[in-house]
Amino acid sequence: MQHHSKAIYDVPKRASVVVIGGGVAGVSAALYLAKSGISVVLFEKGRIAGEQSSRNWGWIRKQGRDLAEMPLMIEAERLWREIAAEVDEDIGYRQGGVTYLVQTEADQNLREGWLAKVKDFGLDSRMLTASEASAMLGLNAPKANIKGALHTPSDSYAEPPLAVPAMARLAQRHGAQIVEAVAVRGLHREAGRVCGVVTERGLVRCDAVILAGGVWSRTLLENEGLTLPQLAILSSVMRTTRVSQVSTSTFGANGASIRPRADGGVTLARAGAAQFDLIPAAFQHFGAFLPILRSRWQIMKLRAGASFFGPLGRTRWAMDQASPFEAVRVMDPTPDTSLLKDVLGAAQKLYPHLAGARMAESWGGMIDVTPDEIPIIGPVAGAPGLILATGLSGHGFGLGPGIGRMAADLATGVRPQSDPSLFSNTRFDLKSSALASKAAL
Ligand SMILES: Cc1cc2nc3c(=O)[nH]c(=O)nc-3n(C[C@H](O)[C@H](O)[C@H](O)COP(=O)(O)OP(=O)(O)OC[C@H]3O[C@@H](n4cnc5c(N)ncnc54)[C@H](O)[C@@H]3O)c2cc1C
Repeated sequence: MQHHSKAIYDVPKRASVVVIGGGVAGVSAALYLAKSGISVVLFEKGRIAGEQSSRNWGWIRKQGRDLAEMPLMIEAERLWREIAAEVDEDIGYRQGGVTYLVQTEADQNLREGWLAKVKDFGLDSRMLTASEASAMLGLNAPKANIKGALHTPSDSYAEPPLAVPAMARLAQRHGAQIVEAVAVRGLHREAGRVCGVVTERGLVRCDAVILAGGVWSRTLLENEGLTLPQLAILSSVMRTTRVSQVSTSTFGANGASIRPRADGGVTLARAGAAQFDLIPAAFQHFGAFLPILRSRWQIMKLRAGASFFGPLGRTRWAMDQASPFEAVRVMDPTPDTSLLKDVLGAAQKLYPHLAGARMAESWGGMIDVTPDEIPIIGPVAGAPGLILATGLSGHGFGLGPGIGRMAADLATGVRPQSDPSLFSNTRFDLKSSALASKAAL
């Protein structure tokens, strides 16, 4: 998964906009700022797309999305097509469709209910019968107990470890400065306004800062006396050896989610199966997260231990001290291999073409989640000059270019194409002033 950007710049002293974080959100923000001729420097503590943005499944989907995300996702899809055409390398972008199998009555109600809710968006999503779905995907219908499927032919996918570094190179071609292996320790303020960042290599002044720090955004904000309802859950993924034949559509079933890969194997995982790390913020935000924890309880494993006192749990450091971001350049959590063996078994039962496939590689990814599983994009009360682009909640790879573009617009006073109010953090009670006064004591 190592894909370094070509040029590593010296740390500049000033830019119009500083972006913190080199995942899909930050890289897209830098891309659209640079395309508009705005000077931008992006700081990544490790390497571009070292964390979630190279570890995800690679699904770029409208299917199954919350209504609030739909206009932005439709825009993001258009941006993905443009990006795939503009980068001069193959990022594995394919419009192969996304399919969710219906295996129970509850699945049927869920999928039909979603289809009814999104009817005004003009999507090409539709229900398939069991035989249509089995024929299209090449499934073992009787063994898998398939009752039908929800299918969106225009949905797509890309190879995450290739896509985001290629976008960073594209941003560089448009004039963005991308600095890897330099962490931002905190924000620099003058008269209350955020007008710079303190990096491990010194102060960089700017007019606006975009925070796209993935799972680290809450940690950085807490040190600033601000709070963010964002927790981390660990998800495990594997890729298989080459398989004889794979459908062009990605598809999700109850035991396994499958994406065809450019290298002839498949990426496999199980939707929703995750480990929830117990860190101090889990107690602070417990009430807000209770509804999703309840609904996911059966498929989540609770983990307490070293991580409680680990870097994600740290909330106080000075600007001349090494920050938690320098302690963990690339978060590389250990995957749950026993879960993945079970997932491979479930996939093989469903999909006869996987019969001889073996696990070729497995990895973990730490996902940042908000209480309503919708990203937070926009300004922060109490920190003028700061724009958040974070909390992408396990489905931000697809939305990424749209999120980056919206953050770039908000940071430069341009009216975004989609309504940003749906993503405002004012929907949560941030209690920032309370924390700020506590910090001042
Ligand atoms: C296993 C898994 C499967 C997923 N599957 C899908 C999928 O199929 N489809 C989909 O749409 N989404 C999926 N997602 C979600 C998607 O990957 C994320 O929502 C998205 O990549 C988040 O992008 P980001 O830029 O916000 O964060 P990240 O990619 O995590 O990037 C944040 C970056 O900021 C850097 N950083 C943080 N703090 C600092 C600092 N202080 N200074 C400098 N750098 C800093 C970090 O090093 C990191 O590289 C999945 C996620 C996982 C983990």
